[in-house]
Amino acid sequence: MGKIEIIQGDITKQAVDAIVNAANCSLLGGGGVDGAIHRAAGPELLAECRTLHGCETGKAKITKGYRLPAKHVIHTPGPVWHGGGRGEDELLASCYRSCLELAAANGCKTVDFPSISTGVYHFPLDRASRIAVREIDAFLKEHPEIERVRMVCFDGRTKASYEEALSEL
Ligand code: ADP
Repeated sequence: MGKIEIIQGDITKQAVDAIVNAANCSLLGGGGVDGAIHRAAGPELLAECRTLHGCETGKAKITKGYRLPAKHVIHTPGPVWHGGGRGEDELLASCYRSCLELAAANGCKTVDFPSISTGVYHFPLDRASRIAVREIDAFLKEHPEIERVRMVCFDGRTKASYEEALSEL
């Protein structure tokens, strides 16, 4: 069986080693999944994020999970979609790789991702899902110590897109 799974659910409820936050470059919270993670984790998360001094698009930074059931949060600012000519594909791929590198470096064996950039950042969903599963699959082949990576999709349309992308691998 593969180590990549697609589920529908709320990422703030997942008791895994690390959940990923589709953050913005300030790392000081925002809407969507970012807001949900900060609300569920409590103000200690924002306090730790303030010490990180932001993050570049495509890179990632790790914090503790505080009141979340997850042990860690890996924050990554995804690219805003500008039509595809500003390196969006490579930046999105870099988000997935950077998060998994941090997860591996911190001993995280189970990692859950939201659908990075496909909310208010408007990255086309089917294009994003193909990039995500390709990068996760490539990373897992090089890092057998990571046991499971899930895409936690908030809605059925997103889940269907990631399932299709996974089936095409
Ligand atoms: P971005 O700014 O990277 O586009 P968004 O938070 O707007 O990030 O959206 C990214 C994805 O996260 C969307 O598919 C959105 O529906 C989803 N999402 C929002 N809240 C949650 C949650 N609690 N758990 C999982 N996914 C969520």
